[in-house]
Amino acid sequence: MAETMKTHGAGTLRAADVGTEVTLAGWVGRRRDHGGVVFVDLRDASGIVQVVLNPDDAPASEQELSSLRMEYCISISGLVHLRPDDMANPELPTGEVEVVANTMTVLSPSETLPFQIDDRIEVDEARRLQYRYLDLRRPSMTENLRARSKVIRAMRNVMDDLGFMEVETPTLIASTPEGARDMLVPSRLRKGNFYALPQSPQLFKQLLMIGGVERYYQVARCYRDEDLRADRQLEFTQLDFEGSFWGQEDVLATLEAISTRVTKDLRGIDVDQPFPRLTWHQAMERYGTDKPDIRFDMQITDLSDVFAETGFKAFSGVLASGGSIRGINAGALGLSRSGLDGLSARAQELGAKGLVWMVTEDDGGFRSPVAKFLSETELEEISTASAAEPGDVVLIVADETQTVLEVLGQIRLEVGQPDGHDELAYLFVVDFPVFERNEDGDFVALHHPFTAPVDVREMSEDPGHAISKAYDLVLNGSELGSGSVRIHDPAVQAKVFETLGISDEDAERRFGWFLEALRYGTPPHAGFAIGIDRLVAILQNAPNIREVIPFPKTQTGADPLTGSPSRVDDDQLRELGVEVRPAVMAEWAVDEAAGD
Ligand code: ASP
Repeated sequence: MAETMKTHGAGTLRAADVGTEVTLAGWVGRRRDHGGVVFVDLRDASGIVQVVLNPDDAPASEQELSSLRMEYCISISGLVHLRPDDMANPELPTGEVEVVANTMTVLSPSETLPFQIDDRIEVDEARRLQYRYLDLRRPSMTENLRARSKVIRAMRNVMDDLGFMEVETPTLIASTPEGARDMLVPSRLRKGNFYALPQSPQLFKQLLMIGGVERYYQVARCYRDEDLRADRQLEFTQLDFEGSFWGQEDVLATLEAISTRVTKDLRGIDVDQPFPRLTWHQAMERYGTDKPDIRFDMQITDLSDVFAETGFKAFSGVLASGGSIRGINAGALGLSRSGLDGLSARAQELGAKGLVWMVTEDDGGFRSPVAKFLSETELEEISTASAAEPGDVVLIVADETQTVLEVLGQIRLEVGQPDGHDELAYLFVVDFPVFERNEDGDFVALHHPFTAPVDVREMSEDPGHAISKAYDLVLNGSELGSGSVRIHDPAVQAKVFETLGISDEDAERRFGWFLEALRYGTPPHAGFAIGIDRLVAILQNAPNIREVIPFPKTQTGADPLTGSPSRVDDDQLRELGVEVRPAVMAEWAVDEAAGD
């Protein structure tokens, strides 16, 4: 489509365009003055090209040329020239050419910038977020936004090809029990009542299945009022989908179709299918986590049998009290004695009583502070069980089994996980437990309470060990998303609520509308949600999800650009029937003063 203000994108010009008259518009990136001739890197959304502003060609008055500053928004017309060979810039896609301008107009001047717009210059993140609109002008950020758009487009294309229908669901809804804290919105029309923002479209997509929409998807914004530890945001985006007359295999096949297309479109990589699978139990036993990074092996080995008769008290004591002894072969770490002791300290920090390191010597024996306490047979068996080659370091933890697995799982990542995401390893984890226990020892749903158990009787008799039809998609050690086959039988749904300690009356009051819907011929259905922010961040090799979110919040949930969350006028509160207690205001003021 012909545009009115430019003929070409700055970043699109190539040697084939030499001799073409072009009109470009964009921002002044770098600017260099060579004896009156001004060279400008002109940047627009398509990239950068060098523009030559020579006073001899009179593109503008000398005064205008000399007053050009960084990030002025300008328009130029001129002829595309080939740069002399020695002046070409192989780092720029447009590096073979330059545009010699015959007109230049300043469309909009810029004040002095709060920071330089240059990918090579590190800027404090709070400042970047405060001026996100400038930060987005940096080529790497433009690239991240483009990648995000590409990923979402690829997802929509796949869903469309597979016959899914995009349906929007509301964002002012009733609170639902999905495991996180709800974000609440006070109602003005019904004072004292609140909407919740959706933690996900979970119940609405299930209603759509009951409503006869057999294939649903949505690029959905979700809200969870969680502490922003790790790499999370209060609001985030999912590709949410659901299918009727579907079981687990239908969902996993759809996930493979989406992930392979997205990976191909963004990274040009063909991912092998089917994706590998582990049961939740296997993942925990071998990798100490439900989201293993399988780009590297280093699996956890159970060494408890090796030490069944051991005279080494630290180990025999653990076994006697029902714990276990497990290890990983961490390979040739090349660590000094203090480096190895550092790993023991790290294991303690992570909650284990300690960690034993053993370095394999050339003759197959071990150098280790505990070697003298172990028998020849024990040493040989450790070596065989962990397939230790000379130089390899075997790391052993003895403790309660859950601690052993968690600590070795974390140490495994710290010593083995590759930097960046050059290689991409997708994995399905299946057969999750239905429930886990919270800190108070009560059962809570491991996925969410609408997930079908494999065996209802088993779930009733032994909830702690019951397996569900829930599955996760994992990429390079990050959980990309979760899903499950849903309960479509109201009696089973009631049973799950009961196990969760939600009384019949409570269930009726909170989700009576949903339990009733289940009673009108609900089709068997299943679905999933992929976290788009995380997927794009990994595919873009970005250090965190904020880099691929146009306007993210800080780690404390604030937006330094617009100042949210912020106070509102008393009038607004009065209309809503909401009052903020003075004590809360005082606390808030203290936080604000502390710069939070
Ligand atoms: N609603 C779930 C979630 O957001 C995903 C699903 O079960 O489809 O994690």
